[in-house]
Amino acid sequence: MSPHVPHKPQRTLLIATHNPGKRRELAALLADLPVRLVDLLELGISEVAEEIHERMEENARRKALTYCTRSGLWTLADDSGLEIDALGGAPGAQSARFAGPEADDPARIQKVLNLMAGIPWPQRTARFRCVIALARPGEEPVLVEGRLEGYIALEPRGTHGFGYDPIFYIPELGKTMAELPMEEKNQVSHRARAARKAVEILRQWLAEEAEVDP
Ligand code: IMP
Repeated sequence: MSPHVPHKPQRTLLIATHNPGKRRELAALLADLPVRLVDLLELGISEVAEEIHERMEENARRKALTYCTRSGLWTLADDSGLEIDALGGAPGAQSARFAGPEADDPARIQKVLNLMAGIPWPQRTARFRCVIALARPGEEPVLVEGRLEGYIALEPRGTHGFGYDPIFYIPELGKTMAELPMEEKNQVSHRARAARKAVEILRQWLAEEAEVDP
């Protein structure tokens, strides 16, 4: 008879976001990892770590650190946004609050389109950028980044995704981000690119853990 092997509980990873669109995308991107995902809602953590910095790196780092300390869990936090060259990189880290705290996605899209009125196509370049911070208790968070280059469309198109997806045109695909179903967005998006790097680091952490506690 084979000896009894006690079942090792799976490592839990906290996805530190209150945004359901991001939560869905991140869960799909991390689906192959042998970890149990929880989010802030499931842990009953309602406190919002304010994004007070102008740089996405600093916001992501601070969020990961705050919620890792609060929960004691490995924590993944991201900060992302749209950088438009003709607007000097705006809305950038302010993407979620660009048209004021009460505005919704269509209002933010309209504000961008108004600011971009009359700007010719070659100067409508923009990128989505995502910074992911990974934190383990007692350690400085590790940061990774993903980018997707594109153009600000002349009008919204498509119904998938969230945020600025309907006005972000990807020339290689001839479509806006909102015309891509989630599986396709998750092949090319800034978040997917950052998440793939995050998965590598998490695999390394899991391997280190297995060495210490086989
Ligand atoms: P965060 O929650 O501070 O990272 O806010 C990011 C904001 O940037 C979102 O609320 C959106 O407005 C925008 N954003 C980030 N990623 C995406 C995306 O994949 N599609 C569309 N908009 C995005």
